[in-house]
Amino acid sequence: MRHGLVKALIILPSPNFDERGAAVWCLVLHYTGMRSGAAALARLCDPAAKVSSHYVVEEDGTVFSLVDEGFRAWHAGVSYWRGISGLNDCSVGIEIVNPGHEFGYRGFPDVQMRSVLQLCLGILGRHEVPARNVVGHSDVAPDRKQDPGELFPWRWFAERGVGVWTDDFLAPGDWMGDLAAIGYATRLPAADVVRAFQRHFLPENVTGVGDEVTAGRAAGLRDLLKTG
Ligand SMILES: [Zn+2]
Repeated sequence: MRHGLVKALIILPSPNFDERGAAVWCLVLHYTGMRSGAAALARLCDPAAKVSSHYVVEEDGTVFSLVDEGFRAWHAGVSYWRGISGLNDCSVGIEIVNPGHEFGYRGFPDVQMRSVLQLCLGILGRHEVPARNVVGHSDVAPDRKQDPGELFPWRWFAERGVGVWTDDFLAPGDWMGDLAAIGYATRLPAADVVRAFQRHFLPENVTGVGDEVTAGRAAGLRDLLKTG
């Protein structure tokens, strides 16, 4: 009898990959941002598009494997996290089917999230990825990307062993310093960096403004990472 957590994995090879230059060190979550999962899969396997990901997870929870984890997929583009640039080299990328902000952003179905969770737990079991290096595309490319966006249930994932989360607000200090310590590229426009942080860690307040609650949450997260 199936327990319903692990859906079939469908191998759908993409030609868009090459050799890795580094060991896997982070996990980057995306949304597809296209009208359908089929359209996204076609694009991620099109040699002319020169984009790919290791996995695609459909809204019904079906997982497609496009690129072997041992190779470099082309999902993150120009990117940065915790002092490292060009994260394709050292990451596994998952594309989660959702139309995204451009085509009607909507909540991620539970069955899809359970499937992504199982996939992430497997990846974290196969590679040395610190919990704080489970990031969204917007975290690592805040001036260019919004995915997977503020509807992605980061807290639910962290409670199940994928990523980090805090509900704490601490006394605000040097909040840009806190964002840099967390991992963000703070040389980029501040409003973009703040909005990316909010999409992930303060999704009820995505304003791009470094206000009191944002600074307080940044301080809370920095403290968690220091002690945890
Ligand atoms: Zn993306």
